[in-house]
Amino acid sequence: MEEMLILIKPDGMVRRYSGARALKSILGLGAEIKFFGINKPDKSFLADKHYGEHKGKFFYDNLINFMSYTELAIIIASGENITEKVRNLLGKTMCEKADISSIRGRYGTTKGINLVHASDSKETAEREVNLWRSMIKIDPEKDYAYEARAYIKKYENFQMIDSVRYREISQDLTEGKIKKEDAEKLFLELLLKETDFEMEKIKGMPSAITENILLG
Ligand code: ADP
Ligand code: MG
Repeated sequence: MEEMLILIKPDGMVRRYSGARALKSILGLGAEIKFFGINKPDKSFLADKHYGEHKGKFFYDNLINFMSYTELAIIIASGENITEKVRNLLGKTMCEKADISSIRGRYGTTKGINLVHASDSKETAEREVNLWRSMIKIDPEKDYAYEARAYIKKYENFQMIDSVRYREISQDLTEGKIKKEDAEKLFLELLLKETDFEMEKIKGMPSAITENILLG
């Protein structure tokens, strides 16, 4: 059966409600959950291995920097045409361009700060699952679907701020109505309202968000 990799990115980890809702939609597809776990991979694992294919692209440095901020939720799902199904549910890469009924369209933060990673083709899925399997430890006795549901239960009623607020700030920054530092202050205020992460752990995140926005 086809397997694929799904990651809740740092914005989805910090924005507890949005990450939990995204995971709940994915579980709704009925795929078998072969693994669920929370882990913070080494930066070099993300840079050289996971995102190695993007090396040299204009968004690469920002992407690696952003992806290394917090631990990630790592999911391996299995099912018929599962990659295509999850990608359809995820929507387009850029949040503002993704359909509002899709995960990235509805819950994604802004631009390329898009909440969830999912393998983007059958070939990528195979490569990514093999790669991440070398990094995690799968316990055949463990009920990973149960673990994923427990995560959802813990966070799906968390205090949330609608992504619309992030996107308004993003637009103001793009249009030059506010300065980068002001946007970062506003982002940090919003993030702190919807998270249980300590300020110390996430205070650098807003600058990674504004840098992504300013990539164009
Ligand atoms: P996807 O995640 O939809 O498969 P890609 O593999 O093309 O997209 O890119 C990997 C990630 O890099 C995206 O999810 C996004 O976080 C970031 N990214 C890609 N293109 C851009 C862009 N034009 N501006 C900002 N970030 C981008
Ligand atoms: Mg991709």
